[in-house]
Parts: sequence; structure tokens; C-alpha cells
Amino acid sequence: MGKILEIDLSDRTYRVTPIDENIARKYLGGKGYALWILYQDLKKLERKGIAPRDIDPFGPENTLIFATGPATGTSFPNGGRYHVMALKSPLTGGIASANSGGEFGPYLKFAGYDMIVIRGKSDTPVYITIIDGEVAIHDATDLWGKNVFDTIRILKDKHGNHDASVACIGPAGENLVHIACIMNDEHRAAGRTGVGAIMGSKKLKAIYVRGTQKPPIAKLEEFKEKVSKYLKVMKENSVTGEGLPKYGTAILVNIINGIGSLPYKNWQGAYSPEADKISGETLEQKYLIKRRPCWGCPIACGRVTKVESGPYQILYSEGPEYESIWALGQDTGVMNLEAIIKANHYCDEFGIDTISMGSTIAAAMELVEKGLIPEEDLQGLDLRFGNAAALVEAVWRTAYKSGFGKYLALGSKRLTEIYGAPELSMSVKGLEMPAYDPRGVKGIGLNYATANRGGCHVTGYTISPEVLGIPEQLDRLSYEGKAKWVKIFQDFTCAVNSAVVCLFNTFALGADAYADMLSSITGWNLTADDILKIGERIYNLERYIMSKYGFSSKDDVLPKRLLHEPLPDGPSKGQVVDPEQFKKMLEEYYKLRGWVDGVPTPEKLKELEIEV
Ligand code: SF4
Repeated sequence: MGKILEIDLSDRTYRVTPIDENIARKYLGGKGYALWILYQDLKKLERKGIAPRDIDPFGPENTLIFATGPATGTSFPNGGRYHVMALKSPLTGGIASANSGGEFGPYLKFAGYDMIVIRGKSDTPVYITIIDGEVAIHDATDLWGKNVFDTIRILKDKHGNHDASVACIGPAGENLVHIACIMNDEHRAAGRTGVGAIMGSKKLKAIYVRGTQKPPIAKLEEFKEKVSKYLKVMKENSVTGEGLPKYGTAILVNIINGIGSLPYKNWQGAYSPEADKISGETLEQKYLIKRRPCWGCPIACGRVTKVESGPYQILYSEGPEYESIWALGQDTGVMNLEAIIKANHYCDEFGIDTISMGSTIAAAMELVEKGLIPEEDLQGLDLRFGNAAALVEAVWRTAYKSGFGKYLALGSKRLTEIYGAPELSMSVKGLEMPAYDPRGVKGIGLNYATANRGGCHVTGYTISPEVLGIPEQLDRLSYEGKAKWVKIFQDFTCAVNSAVVCLFNTFALGADAYADMLSSITGWNLTADDILKIGERIYNLERYIMSKYGFSSKDDVLPKRLLHEPLPDGPSKGQVVDPEQFKKMLEEYYKLRGWVDGVPTPEKLKELEIEV
């Protein structure tokens, strides 16, 4: 759309600035362009005497960005997403980064803007409307305290329902819960790194967008032909054409448990003989109402579900996704899909990241099992592994910081530190790891350790070659050559999150397809190498900013459990991440990246034309 909306909530002013084509050529859009803006803000803060390490995640100096990219809102397959970035995460102390589907991304563009940059903070609750280019900041006193579903309904009733979308926080974000997320379109979440709490600290309850503007395409006819071609490729692919549409992401429960890599009871194991009780197949047979795609998506992995009766009754919900089923289910030992659906629903209703929530509850359960939490702190919350009722209660207690919820609200790292057992937090850089145990899939461990935002699968999803055989089958238990794959996946994913489309199309489409379609959208002549280079530039700038916060190779580590506790049972029984082999992989990775001590060298930054 060529326009960035910059809002200062401290004085409730805004201005519109044009997209700089030179920056767009270097960083594409979305995550990359947002990162570049954050870095300019970081430099300004330094000039004012605020050191990067001293940036308060909840202070007015934190910048929060909602970003789309050149492909968002076009017919590029899966163009229905947006990316959220902020200078400082309250959970990790590093860059905050999260991504969501639904409709908000394209509708922001239809409202006239590529990005919204939020600076400062309001003293009282506000919400923003952007309607066909017109911007207004409204009082949100009456909305404060409302849950996600009510907030969205009220704003759509007031400002128009048709082709509108709302991104908002629930009580968790308002209450500065460190694992709070930003929700949009009821059940879609920009989940990770506590971005909801940053929005809450700015007293920004919601952003409503609506409009009729269409993203321009430089070569429209050519683009249409290319889209038809790649849609066909996606249809013929077994993951994008069959697995994801039929069973959703939860199809992975049986697959990953089947190789003994689905972490169980806070990663004490990685296999359960009961996993089918919570699988995508069971979800489809017993609880599925219908599928719900994000905007412009040919895959439609989203699930609409219900639990008809009983204590976990919920007559309309969406999900749970694979990661949520794992975190709230297998990781807590709750092999009860109805309770998982309810806990997942509460996470959406209150605005909490399901991965960090489940993982933090699982850490608390192990602390309880080891007798490390005094009973008076628990206040009757019976956090034993497998206790479904306690799982559901723990979620709403976290949102309101009620009773023991005030400790859960801090995330697993701080929680386990408080109770003297930091080794029980299954996190990297303070971000809880997702649903693949590196003891059974070696390359994903290197990705977790080196992921800039912390323990994250979608920074570099090497599960694709290591388990699913896409684009080629690797030996999941081998360490050989994995560093190269981790780097490629991390770089490519940066480009995907900067074009801002759904990562799931990459099961079928590679960098060449991206270059091909993005060339028609932008009118630039992009190659697959250009796409990977842009991704590498983005990853290096992000890493460089992280180094300014004090992150280095000392933080590119895995929890000790993965290196020293062999898996007790299942198909990967006896496996660990061998410390020596891990060190070797990491050294190879740094060499490929041109980093020393986990930080880009001046030569590397120069080679990538990153101006610092
Ligand atoms: S594949 Fe799933 S997450 Fe991705 S855009 Fe489609 S429905 Fe949304």
C-alpha cells in the first residue's frame, strides 16, 4: 500500500510515512522491514542515553509493530497473515516476535496501510480504528476487562461487521501476564514472546480495521498465471493437499509420538502409549464441526470444534492446534482431549500463548511432584501431572494472576527460578520450547538453541526434512550436515515472514516459487538466491540487535535435561543430544553464518549491507 501508520499513544497523535523502496528491497516487508524500524528506534534511544539493555518492555520506549508484507492480501497462496514485532519481550528480554493468521493482515492492507507502528503509552485504555485510511483513537474504558470474544463482538457491532477485523488483548494482556498474546478474529493468535503484555502496558485494548483498498500488483496477468501454477503444486503435495486439510496440524500428534519425540510430562519422556486419545484423528472423529481457513488459504488447516457435554462443555471453539494439544496435553500428562479443548478455549478467550502456558504448567507440575512448591503458595490448586481439572483452572488463574496464577503468569523460567530449580524450565532464552524433542530429532535442537527469539520451531522448521522428508529425507538421529539445513530454514523463514504469508505453503513451495510470485507483485527481478539473501540479512540484523541486549553464544544452549537425561522409553529410547556432537554442530553453524561467539562480525554485517 506504500504507507506506514505511526501512532504515538503518549500524546495520541499519528502520522503517515511512505514505504522506503530501498529498505523494502533489502528487507522485503513484514518482519524484515519492522526489524529495520526497530533498529532505528534502538539507535535513537541510545542517542538519548537509554542503553539497549535498559529498555523496559513495559515502558513507553518499547515500540510495537503490526506488519504485513508485499504478498499479504494478494492471491499469493496463504496471504492472510500479519507479523508482530517489538523492541523488547517481557518474557525473554530479547526481541519480541509473533505471527498470526485469520483476517487481520489483509484487512489492515484493505484499510490502507502496510504497517502500524505503536510508540509511547496511554494513561488510560484506548482502542484504534482504521477505516479506509481514516484513523481514530477512542476511549476504551468500557472495554477494559472484557475477554477477547466480547471485545471483538462489541467493536464489530459498533463500527461495522462486514469485512472488518479486530486484533486485541484479553485480560491476560491487560494484567501484564508475561505469556499473553495478541488475538484476532476470535481464535487466531500472535502467540509468542508476550506481545499481548506489551500491548497491555500501552493500555491499547484493540485495533479495528476495515477498508476497500486493494494491494497493487505490478504485473497482474503474469501474477495470476503463476498463482494458478503454484496452487496446483500445493494441491498435489501430500502435506498441503491432503494431510493438513484433512486432519489439521494435529495430524502430527501420532506422527511425532510415533517416533518417540513428543515431550511427555515436562520432557521427562517423549512418548505416551495414550497419544491417540488426543490425536488429530480423534479430534476429527469426535469433536470437529467444520474447517475454518484463514483469509485466502487453500489449505484450511483450522478446526472448528465442540465438546457437547460434561465438565468441559464448550459449544463452539477453534483448534486446538498440534502445539496446543501437546503443551496443554501430553506435556502436562493430561491425555483428555475435552479438557485440552477447554483449556485451549480459555487461552483464546483470555489471550494467552498456549505453548508457554502448557509448558509453564508442566514445569509447575514437576516442581510440585518434587515437593518444591509450598502448599500455601498453591492455595488448593492440585497441580499433579494428569490432573485435567487443575489444568483448566490454572489457565484462568494465570490470566487474572489469581492465587498461584501470579507465579504461572511469569512463564516457566522465572517460575522455576523462584522455586530454586531453573533446570526444570524447558526453555531457550526464556521462551518455552515447542512439541519436538531434539533427543529424537537432532537438527531441531540446533534450531531451538540458535533461534533468535528463543525456543521456537517456526524459526527454522527442520522437522520438515528430518521427519516429513520434505524437500528430502534426512536421518533424524544424525548430526551430520544439520547446521546447513538449520541456516537455510531460518533464512528462508525470515523471507516468508517478511512477504508475510503462511509458512505452511513452504511444504510445497520453495524460494524459487516465492521469488517468482514476488517478482510479479513488486515488479522487481528476484531470484531464489535473492530471497535467501534477504532472509539472511534479516536474521543477522535480528541477531545483532540481540547482541546489543547482551545475548551471545552463552545463550545458544539447550536445557541440560536434553543433553544428560536419556529418553526412558518409546521409539527413541536411550537417546540424548550428545554434548560433544551438539558443540560440533553449533561450531559448524557459526562458521556457516560468519559469527564469532554467536554474534555477526563487522565483516558479515558489511557483506550483507546491514548499516549499523
Ligand atoms: S494453512 Fe492453516 S494457518 Fe496457514 S493460512 Fe491456512 S488455515 Fe491459516
